Amino acid sequence: MNSPQFTAEPSNDTVEHGITVGDVPGLRSPASDAGRAPLNFDVIIAGCGPTGAVLGAELRLHDVRVLVLEKETEPVSFVRVVGLHIRSLELLAMRGLLDRVLEHGRQRPAGGFFAAISKPAPKDLDSAHAYLLGIPQPVIVHLLEDHAIQLGAQIRRGCAVAGFEQDDEGVTVELADGEQLRSRYLVGCDGGRSTVRELLGVGFPGEPSRTETLMGEMEVGVPQEEIAAKVTEIRETHKRLWLRPFGEGVYSVVVPAAGVSDRAEPPTLEDFRQQLRTIAGTDFGVHSPRWLSRFGDATRLAERYRVGRVLLAGDAAHIHPPTGGQGLNLGVQDAFNLGWKLAAQIRGWAPETLLDTYQTERHPVAEDVLDNTRAQMELHSTEPGPQAVRRLLTELMDFDEVNRYLIEKITAIGIRYDFGEGPDLLGRRLRDIDVEQGRLYGLLHRGRGLLLDRTERLTAGGWSDRVDHLADPTAELDVPCVLLRPDGHVAWVGDDQQDLDDHLSRWFGEPATG
Ligand SMILES: Cc1cc2nc3c(=O)[nH]c(=O)nc-3n(C[C@H](O)[C@H](O)[C@H](O)COP(=O)(O)OP(=O)(O)OC[C@H]3O[C@@H](n4cnc5c(N)ncnc54)[C@H](O)[C@@H]3O)c2cc1C
Repeated sequence: MNSPQFTAEPSNDTVEHGITVGDVPGLRSPASDAGRAPLNFDVIIAGCGPTGAVLGAELRLHDVRVLVLEKETEPVSFVRVVGLHIRSLELLAMRGLLDRVLEHGRQRPAGGFFAAISKPAPKDLDSAHAYLLGIPQPVIVHLLEDHAIQLGAQIRRGCAVAGFEQDDEGVTVELADGEQLRSRYLVGCDGGRSTVRELLGVGFPGEPSRTETLMGEMEVGVPQEEIAAKVTEIRETHKRLWLRPFGEGVYSVVVPAAGVSDRAEPPTLEDFRQQLRTIAGTDFGVHSPRWLSRFGDATRLAERYRVGRVLLAGDAAHIHPPTGGQGLNLGVQDAFNLGWKLAAQIRGWAPETLLDTYQTERHPVAEDVLDNTRAQMELHSTEPGPQAVRRLLTELMDFDEVNRYLIEKITAIGIRYDFGEGPDLLGRRLRDIDVEQGRLYGLLHRGRGLLLDRTERLTAGGWSDRVDHLADPTAELDVPCVLLRPDGHVAWVGDDQQDLDDHLSRWFGEPATG
């Protein structure tokens, strides 16, 4: 076994709720623990995709010692443009990152993403960031990774997690080259084929791919107008075919594959030509590919998001077809949900069940996304039945309420976590409203809780190390006071100090004093 490369000592001030071997299947017995290496890190994250990078940054906001292990030596080179939806843009704004990200993307209208049914979004969507941002995936990953590094996360490339073993105190993580590292927790953000999930033995039920799609960037041999006209005609029936100009004569080409193949084999240019000819009647003279890939429509959801000290997030926990552009958004939002809870566990102030609320809140959200992508895939079918349903839904979307419901679903601003009985705002995210100091999200950059108090008589005194208090009678709110969690969800609404104290304890643990 190689010595760990990082030798930071565990900080003395980190305390946490104990996890006992008896609680968790598959944990190593303490009898075999003699001579264990020190806990060099609080959290090791497997995978530095968008989910791992955001989680690393969120943990660093709370001084958690984080190591992100990424198996690839270099960032991915192929340029897939992804769409960041409203809730992800809001979360970036909440951490002061949005302006930087906006510089690198292209803003587009928020509507038209559900099954690519072209309907404009309602004008009064409840968000200060009511648009979609198209941005190349490698660029957003680079920006998120950079942010995590600036906050102090350590990232090691060329390090694949190959094994791990958990015990009462932590997790021993083994890399592909045999090196061993120890941390209190391990989070698998290692994508759809997650090694962590497999080693954990967590089931990943769902459906295998039934269709595959070829995707790549290449040059074309016919004029732009001719391509545009042909694509418009073909897309009347074949919603899964696209040719989009990418600049400098290069096109992004998306075309259904002939069948489901061995995904280890990359497609060839000839595969693209054949499929374009079969579906469009022409191969548009495609040549000189930059990169070629394929993706399927497998739809699967991990049975559990946590086993003891090991957790799953992002594609490691759920996969589904990219229709509607939700996968990256879902993973990033998992990370915002998990980060402060795991940090609280490590800092020692987490209430007993806080970490488990990661699964109870996020698993149903993923279930819902999987279902809406299943529905969208049906609506993309060229069969007469689904095409008729598509026409009917297109008509129904002329009703504002239907259109709004679907957009709020795709953009994730409609999510309401189940925090029990209470006003409609409880469990929802609060949009970026005007406050005395400027904008609400500007007050959430440090990832702490926030009491937004129009009564000017409440206090979060005993929790001031975890929760900020803004007494602001002018806040653009129609309730007396709200308690916001670090992820911007409303944890309490009211005006009674005792009730507030109970909810502060529920989400932020015992007060520091008295
Ligand atoms: C064609 C297409 C279009 C898409 N468009 C959109 C879109 O518009 N909007 C959207 O939200 N989503 C979109 N997605 C989905 C999105 O790309 C994924 O959901 C997203 O990349 C998931 O992020 P992740 O960090 O969870 O996993 P990944 O991005 O897969 O990152 C996992 C990382 O872990 C690393 N890794 C793997 N194994 C190990 C290991 N053993 N040890 C260490 N590291 C490891 C990998 O190298 C990788 O860097 C699209 C997907 C496809 C295929």
